[in-house]
Amino acid sequence: MEGYNLHPDLIQAVDRILLPQEKIQARIEQLGREISADYSGKSPILVGLLRGGICFFSDLLQAISLPVEIDFLSVSSYSPEMQEIGYVRLMKDLELSISDRHVIFVKDIIDTGLTLNYLLRTLKTRKPASLEVCVLLNKEKRRLIDLPLRYVGFEIPDYYVVGYGLDYQEKYRNLPFIGMLKAEMMRNNH
Ligand code: 5GP
Repeated sequence: MEGYNLHPDLIQAVDRILLPQEKIQARIEQLGREISADYSGKSPILVGLLRGGICFFSDLLQAISLPVEIDFLSVSSYSPEMQEIGYVRLMKDLELSISDRHVIFVKDIIDTGLTLNYLLRTLKTRKPASLEVCVLLNKEKRRLIDLPLRYVGFEIPDYYVVGYGLDYQEKYRNLPFIGMLKAEMMRNNH
């Protein structure tokens, strides 16, 4: 982790860097070009999910050369003890109408797929002209539900990752790379 000017607590929590900053940026540039070509002549709405998705959303937005609009959703999953599997509560709804609009749902990471499944079902009831998903990280191995992912940044193994917006108990979002969190950090509940 040389070259990064980070507090020792942040450096110590990371086992290793899975995706360095340059690799993330290069892939997002490609995704932006691909989306700009696919939606040429259209003006899609990018829908982001707060809060883990903000870094990816912001960089992807700037990599798209079309006229776009943006809006955000926020959800909260119930704690695992209370959770009816896949049940997600909408905490903040969209402000724009997506009816008859081309919507690209932008998400940081897909794990079991349950959150995305719930959100796609909700968005579809509003009758968008089209609805596609752009996800930065895909943990295919943990998928419980088959989901149509139009744009995928990286396939990653089944590790808990932090950084570039992704947290563990609200920490580590500001790491400028995506790193694997040390197992003991999760056990210690820091
Ligand atoms: P799902 O299992 O429904 O696909 O993902 C639920 C949520 O769990 C994601 O939106 C994300 O917030 C969180 N999540 C899943 N895997 C990871 C991970 O490796 N790191 C972090 N920070 N969050 C994750």
